[in-house]
Amino acid sequence: MAERVIIVGAGIVGICSALSLLEKGMSVELIDRDLPASGASHGNAGVVSPWSCVPQSMPGIWRKVPGWLLDPEGPISLRWSYLPRLLPWALRFIAAGKRENLAAIADAMNVLNRPNVDLYRNHLRGTGHEHLIRDSLYVHVFRNASGANLDQLGWRLRAERDVPLKVVHGDELRQIEPALSPVYTSAVIIKDQARAMDPGAVGKALYEKAMSMGAGFRRATVNALHRNSDGGWELDTDQGRITAGKVVVAAGAWSARLLQPLGAKVPLEAERGYHLTIRNPGITINNSIMEAERKFVASTMIAGVRCAGTAEFAGLDAPPDYRRARIFKQLAKNMFPAINIGETDEWMGVRPSFPDSLPCIGPVPAQSDLFVAFGHSHYGFGMAPQTGRIVADIVSGATPNIDLAPYRMERFA
Ligand SMILES: Cc1cc2nc3c(=O)[nH]c(=O)nc-3n(C[C@H](O)[C@H](O)[C@H](O)COP(=O)(O)OP(=O)(O)OC[C@H]3O[C@@H](n4cnc5c(N)ncnc54)[C@H](O)[C@@H]3O)c2cc1C
Repeated sequence: MAERVIIVGAGIVGICSALSLLEKGMSVELIDRDLPASGASHGNAGVVSPWSCVPQSMPGIWRKVPGWLLDPEGPISLRWSYLPRLLPWALRFIAAGKRENLAAIADAMNVLNRPNVDLYRNHLRGTGHEHLIRDSLYVHVFRNASGANLDQLGWRLRAERDVPLKVVHGDELRQIEPALSPVYTSAVIIKDQARAMDPGAVGKALYEKAMSMGAGFRRATVNALHRNSDGGWELDTDQGRITAGKVVVAAGAWSARLLQPLGAKVPLEAERGYHLTIRNPGITINNSIMEAERKFVASTMIAGVRCAGTAEFAGLDAPPDYRRARIFKQLAKNMFPAINIGETDEWMGVRPSFPDSLPCIGPVPAQSDLFVAFGHSHYGFGMAPQTGRIVADIVSGATPNIDLAPYRMERFA
């Protein structure tokens, strides 16, 4: 029997890694304390953009942060008692946004995102769930007519990478999104991308596919990783010990905790996000819409209109503050005046975020047969299929046709 690969974490990154490993004929078992695709991979905004190449940290971002923090409806919130622990990460985040770093980060993001729509469609083909990924525009809307300005650095970074952009105003914008309030007078449209009608259902469909290809799944919490005397790995779980030839840690925001006892320290932050699903909204949104000022995404999914976004810094273990999700009620009403906001569901999930907006993918330094795939921050749903392909190459001993240097754990040493 082929050597067994254990993947810790059955989020979208773990599931896509499992699929690509199975395609290479490897034996795979996923372990998760929750059901597959139920964390961030379930509640995200569903944007699948081959064109996401603008990092979260950009030059001068620190000037905007105080205003955002003081605005209760702003895109960022902080539990002040958490500030001392956040500070080292925040300083690295600001440093990552220096102009001289941007091109390399944008190129590395591009590599992970560019094939994502095709890869999702390939994975879903024949599952009966092909409809879960739909063609979409990404409509960034502005109240001010001058807001849609392609001279701004973020749009220039995209244009330099051949992202298909278009500026629209007034009636043309209304034709694309009839439900949008007329207070939005301009938009930048990114063409030729896709959106998920239910990101969690995409993950579950791909998980079912992995099971049908022979993968295993065990519901357990992994407490620690050890080397065993045969040179393989042992996982201490709440369901007993598990042995594995090779291990991939794809445990999202919790990954750093598992690796720290092995001496692998990385600046991973829990960037908590929220969504509000508005059931029976009475309107339809045709695309993914980014409210450029408030920085949240609205789109119609199977369950209703989902508004998702915000970054809350409070650590991994703090309880959710669902006021952050309820903010979306009024914001959605402002954005879509005809929307019916009577029935809503709130959700919180954790983005695994590094200061430079790039994940760690590759071997763990000084540890044979231990690999990582985590830290995909705001883009993990889009980056997951390409990450899975890279993981499968590395774990199976093939050399990926991609420069892996930007994703190495050692970049934080
Ligand atoms: C509000 C919001 C909106 C977003 N919108 C988008 C978007 O539109 N497009 C996009 O591309 N990305 C988006 N993202 C980001 C994206 O959702 C994440 O980057 C991605 O889901 C991360 O996937 P993952 O598999 O690494 O982590 P997760 O989905 O968090 O999965 C990790 C899994 O590991 C398991 N686990 C952790 N520790 C252990 C342990 N010790 N033992 C057993 N199991 C363990 C967890 O239970 C979990 O199931 C958004 C995120 C948020 C929060």
